[in-house]
Amino acid sequence: MKNERIILFSLIFCFTAIIGIGGVLSSDTVQAAESTVSMNVIVSGTGGDVTNNPYIKNNIPSSDLANQVVEMAKNGTPMVVFGDGSGPKTMIIAGVHGNELSAQIAAMKMIDYLNGKQIKGTVYIVPFVAPSITAQNERNWNGQNLNSVANVAGTPTNQIVNKAKELKIVVLGDFHSTQPGGDPGKYSALCSKAPTYESYNIANYVSKQTGCKLIIYPKAGKKYPGAVEDISNLAGIPAVTCEVVSPHGTVATGSVDNSFNQMIALLKYKGVI
Ligand SMILES: [Zn+2]
Repeated sequence: MKNERIILFSLIFCFTAIIGIGGVLSSDTVQAAESTVSMNVIVSGTGGDVTNNPYIKNNIPSSDLANQVVEMAKNGTPMVVFGDGSGPKTMIIAGVHGNELSAQIAAMKMIDYLNGKQIKGTVYIVPFVAPSITAQNERNWNGQNLNSVANVAGTPTNQIVNKAKELKIVVLGDFHSTQPGGDPGKYSALCSKAPTYESYNIANYVSKQTGCKLIIYPKAGKKYPGAVEDISNLAGIPAVTCEVVSPHGTVATGSVDNSFNQMIALLKYKGVI
């Protein structure tokens, strides 16, 4: 009996020790992964509390990292970076239109998804281009459609495209939602073949991976002058616009998942994940 008790206590002691060591190891592992995450404000004058928008508040993850992004967004446009700056460098943008909520929520889910994940390359995520309009559930910033002024010096979208140039981004995705019956009104990936043909390759890949419609324009800057996608392609940064269907100012069922899947496809294009 006594021996059995000793054995039992020994077993409990061993298990506790193993769990203890395991706990230390796993917390080290988490720390190592977290060290590859950083964030900063890349545009000032755009800040706001995005949780004032109930759709954002109720649908974004509640992790520490997500909370840090929300806090930073009060000071301007936040950009979260995963990786050490090695290539390929991919940029995900959401919230060019503040009331297109699905992509902004999907971008926050992507931030959570990539946290601690092994990736090949560096991923830059701008989940809220102008947090102040996201907070107010409004489309425009200071009366401007930010997807028509990326070619106007100093606008938030112009500053973001310049940042993409400076960082030497090789794949850029700008994520939106479109109203049913709107323009383009379809779950889709938009691209152009000139001057940056790779825009088409990326959109074609995203379309094949997700089943969304492929919409091709011959030349960037014609149908949507001043759009983030177009101005990026004109600058030699291969870019696409991805749309999911959801009425503006709200979140249609399945639209966040659709947007997230487009983002996953964008990251798979160069084998980042
Ligand atoms: Zn839009």
